[in-house]
Amino acid sequence: MTNGQAPIEKNEYYDVTFEDLTHDGAGVAKINGFPIFVPNGLPDELAKIKVVKVKKGYGFGRLIEIYEKSQYRVDAPCPLFKECGGCQLQHLSYEGQMIAKRKQVQEVLTRIGKLKEVKVHPVLGMEHPWRYRNKAQVPVADREGGLIAGFYQQRSHEIIDMEACLIQQEKNDEVVQVVKKICEKYGVQAYDEKNHRGTLRHIMARYGLVTGEVMVVLITRTKELPNKNKILSDIVDQLPDVKSVVQNINPKRTNVIFGDETTVLWGEEYIYDNIGNIRFAISARSFYQVNPEQTKVLYDKALEYAQLTGEETVIDAYCGIGTISLFLARKAKKVYGVEIVPEAIEDAKRNASLNDITNAEFAVGEAEVVIPNWKKEGIRADVIVVDPPRKGCDEALLQTIIEMKPKRVVYVSCNPATLARDLRILEDGGFQTVEVQPVDMFPQTVHVECVALMSRVEK
Ligand code: SAH
Repeated sequence: MTNGQAPIEKNEYYDVTFEDLTHDGAGVAKINGFPIFVPNGLPDELAKIKVVKVKKGYGFGRLIEIYEKSQYRVDAPCPLFKECGGCQLQHLSYEGQMIAKRKQVQEVLTRIGKLKEVKVHPVLGMEHPWRYRNKAQVPVADREGGLIAGFYQQRSHEIIDMEACLIQQEKNDEVVQVVKKICEKYGVQAYDEKNHRGTLRHIMARYGLVTGEVMVVLITRTKELPNKNKILSDIVDQLPDVKSVVQNINPKRTNVIFGDETTVLWGEEYIYDNIGNIRFAISARSFYQVNPEQTKVLYDKALEYAQLTGEETVIDAYCGIGTISLFLARKAKKVYGVEIVPEAIEDAKRNASLNDITNAEFAVGEAEVVIPNWKKEGIRADVIVVDPPRKGCDEALLQTIIEMKPKRVVYVSCNPATLARDLRILEDGGFQTVEVQPVDMFPQTVHVECVALMSRVEK
C-alpha cells in the first residue's frame, strides 16, 4: 500500500483472484495487499470486478465477469437464493463448502490463535446437506386479499412469499402452507408492522425428527384470534402429526419475534425428540438445536474427547437445556451444568428426569460467577466442557479453568475467531490444543462449528 492510501479507486475496474470467503460469504480479493469484498466471488476464481465503495482499510466490489470459474461453482438450487440471504453458499458445491470451512478454521487458528501446528480434521458434513432444519419461523403479510408467508428480503422489510425452503424439513414447509391457508380461510389478518394493526405476525413450526411430532405456534399481536376453534379443528384435521398448538402473544412494536405470554390452545405443552439415546421435551420457547442429526455428530465428538471412564467429575459451562450435560452424564460420575437463562435450566432438569439421569446437577447463573463459587466450595473437575455463544468465553471463566487445572478441556464453538482467541489464552495457561474437529451443522450457510480438545501439560 502506498502512503496508507487505498491502491484502488471507486468505479474503476480491476482483475483479481479471490483468495478467501468472508463470514457472510463474499469473495475476498487483494490488490497490493488491500482487501476487497465482492459478493458472489469464490476462492481461486479469476474475475473482473468494479469497485463500488472504498473504506479506510478495505473496499467493496461488484462481480462483473468471471474469467476462470472455481471448479466448485454450481448453480444455486433455490430460486430465492439471492433475495433471501438465509443461505450464503448455495453457489458453492458441498465439497467446496467443506474445503472452504476447514480452511477458514485453519486460517483463523493460525492467525488469531497463533497455533502453528494445530491439527484440524476435515469437516464432518452431512450425507444429504439439505432439508435439515427442524424449526421454521416465518413472517406473515397480507397480499391482495390473501396471506403470504416467507422471509424478509435481504436488507429490507419486504416479506417475500415462499412455498419451499430447501434447508427446511419438508414437514415444516407443509405445516406452514397448510396453517397459512387455514388462517386465510377464516379471515385472519396478518400483522401490519407499519400501522401496528392486524393479528398474525409469525407462524412457527417445530418438528421432532426422530418422533415425527409437530408443534405449531401462532404468534399474534392480540390475545384475540378470530375463529380460533375453527382454525384449531382444521389444523388438527389436516395435519395429523400435530401434537401441540400454541399461541404466543407479542403486542409490541418490535422485530423480536416472541412476546412474553404463551398459552397452549390445543394438545400438549411439549413435543418430544431424541438425540442419540437422550430424549428431549421441547416447548414453544425452548432452545433446541436446529439440526439434530449433526448435533449428534458434534456431541459424540465432544464425548469422545472427554474420554470418560465413569469416574470423572465434569463441568458443562453454557449448558443451555443440558444437551451436552446429559450426553456426558451417562458416562461420567457427576456432571455440573451452568447456564444463564432460567427457563433453559428448568428444561435441563426436566430432561434429566425424563431420562432418569440423577448424576447431573444444574445451576442458573453466569458461568464466570458460578464456576469460581463451585471451586471455592471444593468442587474439582476432571473435564471442563464449554459451549459459549459467538462472543466466546468470558476471560474470568478462562482464568478459573486455568486455576482449576482439569485434565482436559473440550471446547465446543460456533465461532472460530473467538475459539482461536480463547485457545491461545488456555495455551498460555498450561493447556495444549491436541486437535480440532469442525462439524457442519448448517450446510449451505457460512457457519461452522468446531470441537477442540485441549489437555493439560504436566509440569
Ligand atoms: N450447550 C447448549 C447450548 C449452548 S449455546 C446446547 O448444546 O444446547 C450458549 C448458551 O450460553 C446459551 O444457552 C446462552 O443462554 C448461554 N449463556 C450466554 N452467556 C452466558 C454466561 N455468561 N454464563 C452462562 N451461560 C451463558
